[in-house]
Amino acid sequence: MFEKILIANRGEIALRIQRACKELGISTVAVHSTADADAMHVKLADESVCIGPPQATDSYLNIPAILSACEITGAEAVHPGYGFLSENARFAEILTEHGITFIGPDAEHIRLMGDKIQAKDTVKKLGIPVVPGSDGPLGSDAEAQKIADDIGYPVLVKAASGGGGRGMKVAETAKDLTVAMATARSEAKSAFGDDTLYLEKYLGRPRHIEIQVLGDGKGNAIHLGERDCSLQRRHQKIWEEAPSPALNISERENIGETVSQAMRDLKYKGVGTVEFLYEDGGFYFIEMNTRLQVEHPVTEMITGLDLVIEQIQIASGSSLPLTQDEIQFVGHAIECRINAENPKTFMPSPGKIAHFHAPGGLGVRIDSAVYQGYSIPPFYDSLIGKLIVHGRNRNECMMRLKRALGECVVDGIETTIPLFVSLLSEPDIMNGDYNIHWLENYLKES
Ligand code: ADP
Repeated sequence: MFEKILIANRGEIALRIQRACKELGISTVAVHSTADADAMHVKLADESVCIGPPQATDSYLNIPAILSACEITGAEAVHPGYGFLSENARFAEILTEHGITFIGPDAEHIRLMGDKIQAKDTVKKLGIPVVPGSDGPLGSDAEAQKIADDIGYPVLVKAASGGGGRGMKVAETAKDLTVAMATARSEAKSAFGDDTLYLEKYLGRPRHIEIQVLGDGKGNAIHLGERDCSLQRRHQKIWEEAPSPALNISERENIGETVSQAMRDLKYKGVGTVEFLYEDGGFYFIEMNTRLQVEHPVTEMITGLDLVIEQIQIASGSSLPLTQDEIQFVGHAIECRINAENPKTFMPSPGKIAHFHAPGGLGVRIDSAVYQGYSIPPFYDSLIGKLIVHGRNRNECMMRLKRALGECVVDGIETTIPLFVSLLSEPDIMNGDYNIHWLENYLKES
């Protein structure tokens, strides 16, 4: 086992990883930008190293600075968290070349799944159902029109290197398609430096259901059930729950086994999430994330497993400690993403937190790195905390969530808390009857 781990991230996830390290008796190294000198992840780490100015490109994405921090502190492994360098295959390779363990999958798998066209092609061959669409990158407009005619409108133009919902455009007609391709191309070029596009059938009312997997890189892999992340704004998740209100036990077991088998065939190492759209009883793969997800706590709450501890143990060479039969799903969990944003327009709202009070009690978990008097810097993601609630069933979980939201105090900035409070009085939400478009329609109407 490692003695010292460097955490190449900030905010709640840096703290989350520190907690796992501490429980394993591993010392922690925090890295931070000059804007984060007062951050909680720095205060609570055993050691810390400043790696650059506020802009993420100069600090949290600065590979030479992170490598130097490893050498100065003698860290043997790096946990990348999510975002930043977590899906950068080259970073994983560079660490390995320097004799430092990257806590995550092999670079080869990160690269494979980072290219969404290759990812779709690979999983299709491994028996996972995919969204109908172009079999490879789109060429000319005329070629795209032909594929769209074959699969039928509406279609969705997507970026091969896409992420965070960028580079994605819907086309209702052939005329729209030309415009959608031009817009998606330029958005993808500026966001990812790669304007390769592909096409998918646009599903009208699917749910977003993703399967959490865990593999040890030796051909053993299991699944930890699904998360339903259908409540989204601008293709970004805001509320996640497990189990999905839409799945029954046999659907869960079937898709879970299909995905686990594919991960065994790949010899996948570490945690990963295979994302699907689910409509009329069918699953359609959209992408795989080769890292820990923001919403991993809902899985932890219903399985009792600590996914970060599992990641660290697997990275240190352990075999999978559990078989599929040993995984038990207990109760229901919901996560609300508390963002420093206006709850209606989602405009960022950085600034100083004047008062802060975290809810508590049975089944309530807060993953956050903010505190009273802390100033949220304007340079990074607006996620400031996650409220995760567990109950014996969905109804108890919703009642507990309502109670916990009522106890939350975050004054001085705007947050998404009022949105969650209002969602809890919506019958569709209470009944679990929503799809990926529900939230945007609700926001338009309210
Ligand atoms: P990103 O990597 O940018 O997040 P994804 O492929 O994971 O992109 O898709 C993000 C979201 O976009 C999905 O959760 C879903 O809401 C929507 N989406 C993606 N593909 C489709 C599709 N074929 N039809 C309808 N909606 C889609």
